[in-house]
Amino acid sequence: MAGRAAGGASRALRRGGGTAIAGAIAQRIDSALPARLAGQIGHGCALVTGTNGKTTTARMLAAAAREAGLQPLANPSGSNLMRGITAALISETGATGSIRNGADRVGIFEVDEAVLPHAVRALRPRAVIFTNLFRDQLDRYGEADAVVSIWQRAISDLLPDATLVVNADDPAVASLIEAAERPVLTYGIDDVSQAIDEPEHASDYKLCLTCDEELDYDATFYGHIGHWCCPGCGRTRPAPDVRALSIDANRDGSAAVSIATADGEREFYLPLSGLYNVANALAATAGAVALGLPMDAALRALAAFLPAFGRQERFRVEGRDVVVLLGKNPTGLNQVLRTISAGQGAQHLLFFLNDGIADGRDISWIWDADYEIIAAGARGVTVSGTRADELALRLSYADVAAEPRVVTETRAAMDAALAQTPPGEMLYVLPTYTAMLEVRELLAARAGVRPYWEDTP
Ligand SMILES: [Zn+2]
Repeated sequence: MAGRAAGGASRALRRGGGTAIAGAIAQRIDSALPARLAGQIGHGCALVTGTNGKTTTARMLAAAAREAGLQPLANPSGSNLMRGITAALISETGATGSIRNGADRVGIFEVDEAVLPHAVRALRPRAVIFTNLFRDQLDRYGEADAVVSIWQRAISDLLPDATLVVNADDPAVASLIEAAERPVLTYGIDDVSQAIDEPEHASDYKLCLTCDEELDYDATFYGHIGHWCCPGCGRTRPAPDVRALSIDANRDGSAAVSIATADGEREFYLPLSGLYNVANALAATAGAVALGLPMDAALRALAAFLPAFGRQERFRVEGRDVVVLLGKNPTGLNQVLRTISAGQGAQHLLFFLNDGIADGRDISWIWDADYEIIAAGARGVTVSGTRADELALRLSYADVAAEPRVVTETRAAMDAALAQTPPGEMLYVLPTYTAMLEVRELLAARAGVRPYWEDTP
């Protein structure tokens, strides 16, 4: 009750969504609370973790559960520490302090990579979905190897019949299978026509985690994601249980994806662009299989999917189309840049680089991202954020703009970028995480969209 009151007060004072504070207070009073509430969720819980794609994957899986007639209980985007999860559980309790409609509910939580062991112990999930492991927020976690050992510890605490859902195309994630001693379901992209010719700078896992030998790739999709094998110890990409046989991108960025599961082959429509979103859709589909949801419901949910705030969200502002694409690490950003460069005509761009705690204080990753991808199509380029000067320097090295216009203040930067974009054309906004919150609020106000915490997940 104290948690709910604090959450309500925070919302009333407009201090933000009031999501995490409720959890923080309730957890301090009763540390066993999340476990007790999670135990009332009739269809159990699934957790989604990994560097990129966990918000989108969790939302896709929640949509699949809803389409299957269940009531998903999810944490809002970004509130993926234990206090955010606890707050989400509390917000779904009734007057007696129990989860409302517990019997019809399924918990779908996105979980920060480092928090997974706590979440596993508290929530006793039926399935854990691992999306990928990229270099991200180095100052928070140390190198990616440390995350693998954190995940291995979490897996050893899973219930014996809990299913691991694993990205076969990511050698680091796939390495989790070996000592799992739990049921495993793998997913991956079989369509090698989607491979890129040149490996990206951002590839983190060129070396085998088992024997340190350099991995061989038959096909690279992005970063270290692809068809890999190790010439040293013979470890190789597992054949995926849920796999994309072919991906046909439409002009508007949507795609027709042909998918194979144990049930056979089908085609589904995915209204999102980027190969990374195909991977997210496969992760969600495999998660649906692990939870025993009907495949038809899962694919219907994907076809009707709307992106989470800030992730490919579109606004119509003063006659311009504005699309917001979150870019917070080299691999995620490279995918975003590829999506932009595939678009028609000149590209008007507004970048934000912040170094807040939630962004990662270390911004050296911008030197590993391939801004060169958009050099040919970039026209009006505006750079903003607390580290705008550093990014402007990076963009000039990438030949994206000889002298990008630097406008530090967010609102002024948005005004400048909109003014530079001719009516009827598209402005791409690429913020880091904390800037995304500001940008989103600004655009929502101008376009008349509700603030994000009023969105139902
Ligand atoms: Zn090896």
